[in-house]
Amino acid sequence: MLIDINALTIKTLCNALCKHVWDSLKNDIRSNPRLYLLHDREEPLPDGSYKRITSTLRHYLLQVSITDHRHCLTNLLLGYSTFRSLSLHGVPDEARVCRACLIHRETPEHAILQCSADLCTVTQRAELFDTIGITLPKTLSDDAAIFYLKKIIFHWDWVPHTARFVHSVTATWWDMCAKKATVGDKQLVLDEDDDMMEDMGDADMVDQALYVAGL
Ligand SMILES: [Zn+2]
Repeated sequence: MLIDINALTIKTLCNALCKHVWDSLKNDIRSNPRLYLLHDREEPLPDGSYKRITSTLRHYLLQVSITDHRHCLTNLLLGYSTFRSLSLHGVPDEARVCRACLIHRETPEHAILQCSADLCTVTQRAELFDTIGITLPKTLSDDAAIFYLKKIIFHWDWVPHTARFVHSVTATWWDMCAKKATVGDKQLVLDEDDDMMEDMGDADMVDQALYVAGL
């Protein structure tokens, strides 16, 4: 009853509401396959340590100063990218064959870290790992590719280099694949009106919302 409301009950209600909101947010992220790069994320801190934080001003928003690089990385984290991925609604996994090697399923981590069919991507990849000073295993399983992609994104000092690399590789693949993309035996001619570009537009809106939420 309103007559029972006092400072203590208001504080208790606020705490309960906050807990409900954060739990709901965490469940939404955990249950969304498009957000697989955010699952079990630990936030890197300036001292090199990591901490599980539901909502904060994320390290890449602070560390990646070039807007295009930051947007490209944000879109990747939200499951929107040039690479065949969950962006292509309704396309079954088996139809998402890599447009460079024509063998592996095309995922962001495959294009960024595994595929060796495009020389430009391979060169950019080697430059990144030379810059950050770690050695990428010559053979990467799919799980290892996700592990290393998260490793180079969720690092306080590496993330500007990673964002530049992701932006470059995205541009390379866009040039390579934008004119024609094969989905199964159907040819799609991509232009500025196609679904992928609409997805990127949606991503910008989601991007803005998640900036506010601190995701
Ligand atoms: Zn490939």
